[in-house]
Amino acid sequence: MNMIFLGAPGAGKGTQAEVVCKELNIPAISTGNMLREAVKNGTAAGLAAKDYMDKGELVPDEVVIGILKDRIARDDAKNGFILDGFPRTVAQAEALEKMGVRIDKVIEIDVPDDAITARMSGRRVCEGCGNSYHIKFKPTKVEGICDACGAKVVQRIDDKPETVQARLKTYHEKTAPLKDYYLSRGKLVTVQGQNEIAETSRLTLAAIKG
Ligand code: AMP
Repeated sequence: MNMIFLGAPGAGKGTQAEVVCKELNIPAISTGNMLREAVKNGTAAGLAAKDYMDKGELVPDEVVIGILKDRIARDDAKNGFILDGFPRTVAQAEALEKMGVRIDKVIEIDVPDDAITARMSGRRVCEGCGNSYHIKFKPTKVEGICDACGAKVVQRIDDKPETVQARLKTYHEKTAPLKDYYLSRGKLVTVQGQNEIAETSRLTLAAIKG
């Protein structure tokens, strides 16, 4: 099954994508993780993306569409995938359609802005594999060390409060219109995401299977 996880920054898309991809044995493809990796490696895409990311703005469509296209062409995505953080604009959704990529379901994880702002300060991400954690709601077993790969777990530069506000504004302006886009195509299912992580996972899996 080919799916899109949609939601504001910090709504828990990444965490839920990690749960569901293990359950269904399909890759979770996060353009944010790929871009952070590109920045770390100093690639052309990384250089083009860094300033936008640090400010909490969207990276230009052509840069993100390019890296996404290469990624979904890989063998492990043949039996399905979860797109986490893509598309983020209507132009990106149209690019997917033009590439002939079939989307079966779009799962929106809905969390109000004030709950997101409160959550973000505790969010942490692994420098190695990109797994996401939260100091209160999803701590690592050993403080500061990723459970999955043993690399260091850090706060993202763009999780600073002022950048979070910029990212939320960008989400409402540029990404939220995708809800209507996929609703009108009969693909959108909304899951309430403000409860415990395990409860959101239960609702997410039910929405996928339902
Ligand atoms: P994320 O980890 O999904 O929150 O993404 C982190 C940052 O990467 C975003 O704030 C954007 O600057 C950039 N980014 C990730 N995915 C996209 C996308 N589909 N389109 C544009 N920019 C993106």
